[in-house]
Parts: sequence; structure tokens; C-alpha cells
Amino acid sequence: MTSDAPCLPPAEARPTTVEQLDRAAARPVVRFDYLKDPVVVESLELLRNGKHFLLRARSIDGAEGLSFPNGRAAYLYPILLKCVAPYFIGKDARDLESLVDGAYVHASNYKLAGLALFNPIAWVEFALLDLMGRIANRSIADMFGGAVRRRIPIYVASGRRDTTPEEEVDLLARRVEETGARAIKFKVGGRMSRNADSMPGRTDGLVPLARRTFGDAMVIHADSNGSYDAPKGIEVGRFLEKHGVYFFEEPCPFDHLDDTRAVADALTIPVAAGEQETSLRRFRWTIHHNAVQVVQPDVHYNGGFIRTVRVARMAAEAGLPTTPHISGALGCLTMVHFASFTPNIGEYMEYKSTDKEGGWFEPPLRSVDGYVEVPTAPGLGLTVDPAFLRGARQTKGE
Ligand SMILES: [Mg+2]
Repeated sequence: MTSDAPCLPPAEARPTTVEQLDRAAARPVVRFDYLKDPVVVESLELLRNGKHFLLRARSIDGAEGLSFPNGRAAYLYPILLKCVAPYFIGKDARDLESLVDGAYVHASNYKLAGLALFNPIAWVEFALLDLMGRIANRSIADMFGGAVRRRIPIYVASGRRDTTPEEEVDLLARRVEETGARAIKFKVGGRMSRNADSMPGRTDGLVPLARRTFGDAMVIHADSNGSYDAPKGIEVGRFLEKHGVYFFEEPCPFDHLDDTRAVADALTIPVAAGEQETSLRRFRWTIHHNAVQVVQPDVHYNGGFIRTVRVARMAAEAGLPTTPHISGALGCLTMVHFASFTPNIGEYMEYKSTDKEGGWFEPPLRSVDGYVEVPTAPGLGLTVDPAFLRGARQTKGE
């Protein structure tokens, strides 16, 4: 690799057939033929140190891998430990691609389909990839066909709705200053609020104030978290268009695919969605129907790298960018790896600062001049402070 591959702007989906999208999603994703011997999974243990969770995978040969579950492990642990982890024990981790699909069907787990099932599957996938990467001395990108970029461009957000427009713009200005980001995102509407704003006049005030404050060069994203029905989504979308907003995220409740499509059809501003989605068939529907112009799977919520590559490949078939949503500060780790080997990522990736994590890992995953460097050490590429790991206790989630 000589230079970083270009990132894709939002786009109207090229016409595709469902057969074409199915073929894109069905192509093999990851290969382990450089691992000559079986990597048999001996154990998967959930560890906790303070509010931080770690999932440790061990092979029968004594190799170890670690992943970093998001905070939802505090209540999803029974699904991880009772429904998902047992399926992987005794299996050859080199079969990971079929194991991820097998875990979905195992013991009727598909009846739990959604974030509650696919987060735990992702955490196991990450830990086994870390383990195999360490054995083979390969980074995540090396296992997924090779890196196409080493620096990942980011946008910053506050994630808040309790701020006045002035407070929000101040917060974002500080985040831009800290990170060097050239793009920001703020919340509009009230979050799944049936058209109500989080406080009277906040959206109407914030959008023009942000544009005036940051100037025309700043890339501005707006996220409604499913606040609107289709007519109100179209009205708000036209207002965002007027102020040059880059994309409009989740205009309608996440599972209301028809309403999302109606908003996208009526507007010129690109619509982004997918953070809650875990169904490859529903991703296929939104791509096939041009219901979104930016696809936003979350690598944790959607069940790991393998399933998220399948989504990105369907998006690529239609010429769409994939801009993963990230869950929690260490969601940044899986986002940067995904962006390192996925050709069709968007121009600005979601970023949440890792500064509050407490410095128990290296490298720190900080944004410098608007970019985060991808760790290149084997596996997930994080080195955990040995004292922190010693202080972590096995937990059944209590
Ligand atoms: Mg969102």
C-alpha cells in the first residue's frame, strides 16, 4: 500500500438486483489458510475491571486473545455466557465465518435476533480474531484482505440533547479544537419522540447557529434518532438542506423502513441509517430501494467484522459508502480496523474520545488533525496494561 484509498461521499444507490446484492454478501470474507494447525477454542471468559469488560479467548494450545465488549455486557452477559460462548467451545476458530452464522442458529438463538444476540456474537468474533492474529502475527486488516488506508478521517459529536444551541456549539467547538476534526454531528429532534423537539426551538436555533459559527467549510451531520414521521422528516430535511447539512441520520424510527425511504425519496440531502439494524436482509432492502444513501452498521451491534463486511459489500455494489456507527469509546477500535480494510467507507467516521477510558491500553486511539491511526500490531493491536489485566476478575456479569 502506497497511499490511503479515497473515501466515498454519500450517493444515490445505483440500481441493483437482489441477486446481485446476495452474491456480494455471500462472497467469502476472511481466510486463515496461513494457520496450518487447528485453533481449538478451549475457553471464553468474561472479565471485568471497574466498568470495563474484557472477553478472553484461549485455545487448547494456550494462545490467548482479548476483545473489549461495550458496556451492554453488564446486562447481556447471560446471552453471551449461556447462549453464544458454549457454541464456540471445542470448535476450530479458523472456521469463524461459518461459526458466526452457526451461533445465530444454535439452540434457536435466532429467536433473540437483534442487538441482544449480535453484540455477544461480535465480542466472541473479535476475541477469536485477536487470538488468531497473535498466533499468525497478522493485524485485523491482514486477515481481511489487507489495509487500504492507515489514517481514518473522523467527525466529532457531543451526543447531547439537553444542551441549548449555544451550549451545543460551544461543546462542539471544544471537540473540534481537541481533535482537529473537519466535521461535526449534532442531534436534532427529541429521540424517538413522535415529532417533538428535545426542548422548544432547539433544532430551529441550532442548525443556523452551527453554520454561522463554524462557517461553510465545516461538514455538518444531523441525527434525529428516529424523531419524526415521514411528513415531519421531510420538513426538517428541507430545513437541513437549506443550511448545507451533509447527511440526515435516522429521520424516522429505525425499523420504519418505508417512512425512511419516503423521506429519502423526497429530499436531496442524503439519508443515513442502519445503526440498530442486524438483519442482512433488511440492509439489502434499504440498499436495493435507495432508502439510504449512507449505510451505518455498528460493528458490535451487527455481530462483528464478518457480518459488517457483508453489509459493506452490498453497499459497494450499489456505490454507497459505509460509515459505521460506534458503540462506546472502544467502539473506535473496531471502527478504525473496519475502515482500514474496507474500500467504500464514508468520508468522515464517527469518533468517540477514548480519553475517559483511563489509559489502560496502548495505543490511545486519539484523533490528531482529524485522523485516527489504525493500530498495526497483531490481532486487534491493543496492548493492555498487565496490572489492569491482573486486576480484572472473571465475572458472570454481576
Ligand atoms: Mg445515530
